[in-house]
Amino acid sequence: MKKNSNGYTGLFIPGPTNIPDRVRQAMNVPMQDMRAPDFGELTLPLFADVKKVMRTTDAEVFMFPASGTGGWESCVSNLFSAGERVLISSFGQFSMLWVDMLERFGLDVEHCEVEWGLGVPHEDYRRILEADRDHKIRGVFACHNETATGVTSNISEIRAILDDLGHPALLCVDGISSLGCIDFRMDEWGVDVVVGGSQKGFMLPTGLAIVGVSQRALERRATANLPRTFLSFDDMMKANATGHFPYTPATQMFHGLRASLDMIFEEGLDNVVARHNRLASAVRAGVHAWGLNLCAKDPSLFSDTVSAIVVPEHVDGAEVLKNAYYRYNLSLGSGLTKVAGKVFRIGHLGDLNEIMVLQALAGSEMALRDSGANIELGSGVAAAQAMFIAENQQSIKKAA
Ligand SMILES: *Cc1c(COP(=O)(O)O)cnc(C)c1O
Repeated sequence: MKKNSNGYTGLFIPGPTNIPDRVRQAMNVPMQDMRAPDFGELTLPLFADVKKVMRTTDAEVFMFPASGTGGWESCVSNLFSAGERVLISSFGQFSMLWVDMLERFGLDVEHCEVEWGLGVPHEDYRRILEADRDHKIRGVFACHNETATGVTSNISEIRAILDDLGHPALLCVDGISSLGCIDFRMDEWGVDVVVGGSQKGFMLPTGLAIVGVSQRALERRATANLPRTFLSFDDMMKANATGHFPYTPATQMFHGLRASLDMIFEEGLDNVVARHNRLASAVRAGVHAWGLNLCAKDPSLFSDTVSAIVVPEHVDGAEVLKNAYYRYNLSLGSGLTKVAGKVFRIGHLGDLNEIMVLQALAGSEMALRDSGANIELGSGVAAAQAMFIAENQQSIKKAA
């Protein structure tokens, strides 16, 4: 099959996300000298503004020319030592990959394997941390938003457990598909490390790992013995003090980040979070109208950035993706490893509005039907439309 080349391809994968024209154009600038004395005029405000997105005043921000995975690696290699005990859970492809990284670095990993569709197992975390009376566990890891299953976990609950037990482990969070989309409060939740990536909520190309590290966590650098060079926090901090970098930074990305942060603050971070919730609710209303279920097992876990939709038993999720892509110019997210063929995903994060959601639902309906699912055409679209209209009427009433 050949893809139809007219118009835009609808991009509804949970990263990379759509890049606003304003951000794309902001990156179209001549190359500049990254050692120029005034380079910090571009970069220093970025560090300050990224902190606002993480909702922290305490943390140090790092920006590495890497994807989000590089951000994970910077957390592990700068703050931990080989053989050190850490606690983590997996319930999807991304949390699983973080477990794999910890093991490859030779950490002593206590791994809670959780059914895909659930989130961080708070009760298990409490039990394991409570039993760890001599505080051998040095880090507690959690994936805030598991992008493979569309599950958002409660991070403040983990902080509450640590505080309750007086446990000093560092709380390290994967916020790659939540930062700038789903409510995230680094200081309030006592998060020690949060890892973000440029190509999700920041609406940029892939290429910046954006990491927040608490002052308490930074103290670990002195004793952590894993080797690090490219991702060294020390080297970064020395150069970043004047807004410079220890090696050639991705300057165009900084111009893009300037524009994307401006857009986020012009809309208002709270409004951005509310918009993601509104659009995600409409997607969920559509899925419900189709008579299908989400991979996420409980409404309290539903993600506002990505929905993983379980296809009917006789339908192949890969077929849905193929039909959407070739017939309707629509990129949907695939089911990864354990849920391959069983789910397809709609990414609804970043630069997104109501009509785009309807586009994703309309295309999904057709692709589902093409793949043999008994979906009533228009049912999901109509449910989302009804929700948008009802919300508009409510806000008109409120304004009056
Ligand atoms: C996308 C994603 C990653 C991987 O990030 P890369 O930028 O592809 O390295 C990790 N964790 C989560 C939750 C993600 O959504």
